Amino acid sequence: MHSIGVYIHIPFCVQKCVYCDFLSGPATRQRQQEYMQALLREIVWESKYYTQYVIKTIFIGGGTPSILEAEEIAEILNCLRAHYQMDAKAEITLEMNPGTVDRNKLLKLKNSGINRLSIGLQSADNAELQMLGRIHTYEDFLWAYHQAREVGFININIDLMSALPGQHMDSWIRTLNKAVALQPEHISAYSLIIEDGTPLYENRDAWDPVPDEEEDRQMYQQTKQILAEYGYYRYEISNYAKVGYECKHNCIYWQRGVWHTTDFVGFGLGASSTVGNWRWKNTESIKRYLLVFQKHNAKLYDSRLTDNSSVGQSVKEEVVRLLDVEQMEEFMFLGLRMMEGVSKQEFMASFAESMDKRYGAALQKWIQLGMMVQSGDIVKLTEQGIDVSNTILSSFV
Ligand code: SF4
Repeated sequence: MHSIGVYIHIPFCVQKCVYCDFLSGPATRQRQQEYMQALLREIVWESKYYTQYVIKTIFIGGGTPSILEAEEIAEILNCLRAHYQMDAKAEITLEMNPGTVDRNKLLKLKNSGINRLSIGLQSADNAELQMLGRIHTYEDFLWAYHQAREVGFININIDLMSALPGQHMDSWIRTLNKAVALQPEHISAYSLIIEDGTPLYENRDAWDPVPDEEEDRQMYQQTKQILAEYGYYRYEISNYAKVGYECKHNCIYWQRGVWHTTDFVGFGLGASSTVGNWRWKNTESIKRYLLVFQKHNAKLYDSRLTDNSSVGQSVKEEVVRLLDVEQMEEFMFLGLRMMEGVSKQEFMASFAESMDKRYGAALQKWIQLGMMVQSGDIVKLTEQGIDVSNTILSSFV
């Protein structure tokens, strides 16, 4: 029996944050309801392909999934339970924004089976939150966090973001200290990336400058140090957890399904899937997505990978068969994000080719420069290597 990790995309938000380039945005309640119906149909329709699979993790992300009614989230989970086999201990994460929940909703979410909450805080400074276009204050977050604890959530992640326009080290340290004081089980801390096409990018001259590379690196070092003091270990470049509370869904992704024992299936607008050697991505056009699933028109929809004639009419786009070399690249650039590194034996078992034969020159170079280290059959980034991880990881692609 194979395993799958399921990702569900909810593309709605109360308003668009200025830095956000995710597939998300505001929508009417009617549009949300139409989307829900389409999503449930997609989940049911696809189930026939996964009769031999058991769901190990579910991640409901977005967008802001907590914008939906708790009953709608429960409906998604019930639909999955009714049409798929699900591990009784499956990790089920919901991304949640303060300002979209009340105590009753949190209680219903808990009762629906959500067992992990990922709360988007980003900053504990209200001026920074306002600048980012977030819909909540730090106090809103605190209230939601405590309510979540009170209704019984025992596995909570807090998302933080550093290197914001005008941000200095003291402000970032205050945010970190406030987050650790709450003792969540997991903290994600990413540096802001100003993406082309976002309001932040378009009006970049009007904003305060972002911290330079050196300040960004110092913020990263502070993050690691403060979180370590409070019992969080860094298991991935930007993710920290108390032992046993690593995000299983993401770990499976970074380790590429722990090498072929777990596949990834995405449902909803723009969601990506990787099953065996196949990869595809759902359309990003909500009109198309709703058209196909509102009518539930099998002829329009079912492009299953062998039927090339209907691929263009499906919600499934960019359907590709992954070459071995592409899978090797993913093994390296995703696996090396994990602090535990990648195993040469596992590489050999997956591809019947040695890692040294394929990447010997790059490995040697980074090891000699002190950016990577080998211990037994494991190779991983050093502290120095983590500072320039983007350069190192891209050298394997
Ligand atoms: S809440 Fe998240 S998904 Fe929505 S606009 Fe803000 S950053 Fe983007």
